[in-house]
Amino acid sequence: MALHTQSDGAGISFVTDYVSTIGGRAATSPATAPVYNPATKQVIASVPVTTRAQLEEAVAAARHAFPGWAGTPVEERQAIVSAIGDRLAEHAEEFMALLTREQGKPRAGAEWEVHGSVAWFHEIAKQSLPSETLVDTPERRVVTRYTPVGVVGAIVPWNFPILLAVWKIAPALVAGCTIVVKPSPFTPLCDLKLVELVQDLLPPGVLSAVSGDDDLGKWMTAHPGIDKIAFTGSSETGKHVMASASGTLKRLTLELGGNDPAIVLPDVDPQKVGPAVFWAAFQNNAQFCNAAKRVYIHADVYDAVRDAMVDYARTVRVGDGAEAETQLGPIQNEAQFRKVGEFFDDCRDNGHRFALGGEIGESPGWFVPITIVDNPPEDSRLVAEEPFGPILPLLKWRDEEDVIRRANDTPYGLGASVWGKDLSAVERIGRRIDAGTVWLNEVHQYSPHQVFGGHKESGIGAENSLHGLAEYTNWQTITLSKTPKTV
Ligand code: NAD
Repeated sequence: MALHTQSDGAGISFVTDYVSTIGGRAATSPATAPVYNPATKQVIASVPVTTRAQLEEAVAAARHAFPGWAGTPVEERQAIVSAIGDRLAEHAEEFMALLTREQGKPRAGAEWEVHGSVAWFHEIAKQSLPSETLVDTPERRVVTRYTPVGVVGAIVPWNFPILLAVWKIAPALVAGCTIVVKPSPFTPLCDLKLVELVQDLLPPGVLSAVSGDDDLGKWMTAHPGIDKIAFTGSSETGKHVMASASGTLKRLTLELGGNDPAIVLPDVDPQKVGPAVFWAAFQNNAQFCNAAKRVYIHADVYDAVRDAMVDYARTVRVGDGAEAETQLGPIQNEAQFRKVGEFFDDCRDNGHRFALGGEIGESPGWFVPITIVDNPPEDSRLVAEEPFGPILPLLKWRDEEDVIRRANDTPYGLGASVWGKDLSAVERIGRRIDAGTVWLNEVHQYSPHQVFGGHKESGIGAENSLHGLAEYTNWQTITLSKTPKTV
């Protein structure tokens, strides 16, 4: 079926029939791969495993579509991107249910992600990068233009599968690029469905989705027909992506891992800050690049804040995200479940004290209990690495210089938060943290108009805002002599 001839999204099943979309058409592949519900470990769907030849087709279609799309007036591109947001909004309920089934996140998280994705389409659709006139005299004109980079390969992780795809699709299309999206093999369903569902809004080949494992990602990063890779994932994979992309000197945006510190000052109300810092750390079951992953609490309030966090954590319901009262779901996949388990083992083997949790029991899904570790050593694995799961170290501090040094003593620099009543102290400390986003007395606030990116090994480049949009463009300087003596 030529999906781009559809007049609306009606008739598309959210239950079965997952296809890739190549050159505007639905595509199946000789091989398929299963997709699991992490709350039950049951197979819920199968998806095509895109072949290398099919990737070639998708890239060729994107290259073919590029001149026409780049030449479409920006206002038309913006209107289409906004209409994609409308289409997603029309199907928000189905996407939220599907997101919970494939990713595991509970309803509130699914609402935040799907409605957030709609808002991103609508808001990014208001952005543009007009040419800048630097000189305009009777003799000369000098203009800087922002021209689309070409074909984008988008590689997406499994923790926010829709939103992090939209962070790439929306600016790429507004900038005039064509794009081939590769979701994570663990969470391909929403992304495949979204791309399928909006084909009638776009010329064929402008937006394709392919589906496969890490090899497909490698083929994309090395592909000479792809001009830019927009990647979100781990720092380790990001380094492979950069090495592979160097062969063709592709443009790159890398949004990578983090080990965000949260710093709690001595003047806080423990009963208030406890739940706030709990959610800073455990939102999305701590499978969050920007989760607070090390909480530095001033010694004067350490016990009180720890106890408030533990008391609050005991009230939080962990379970199948499809159940209404669930607040935290499972770990998204088995490999990650095993990786998180290693942090539990390491804490136990090294005698670190659990203030809460610590034992992973039997369960129908990949569930891990909320676990809080009481002041482990600064060089423990839990403090130094990114567990990407619900096990959190609380650490003590007394001296401001010392806590700033410890907060910055990491190869990561994605985010940070500082919590306290003394706003001058909060700001003073926050400004000295080497991270792309520093939240003061709040956390996890994002906006399509707010630049997002990592310092150090947390990434290269930016998403969101005009800085993010500019990453889908090349600068071009045009100079004109209006009174030429050479012709
Ligand atoms: P991952 O790096 O394992 O995989 C991310 C994507 O890359 C997947 O689509 C995967 O198939 C693909 N991939 C894997 N190997 C590849 C290769 N060699 N070449 C090309 N593509 C390849 O990450 P994940 O486990 O899906 O996600 C968790 C990680 O992502 C965490 O480290 C987290 O902090 C990070 N993350 C960062 C941000 C951010 O914006 N900075 C946001 C979310 C997640």
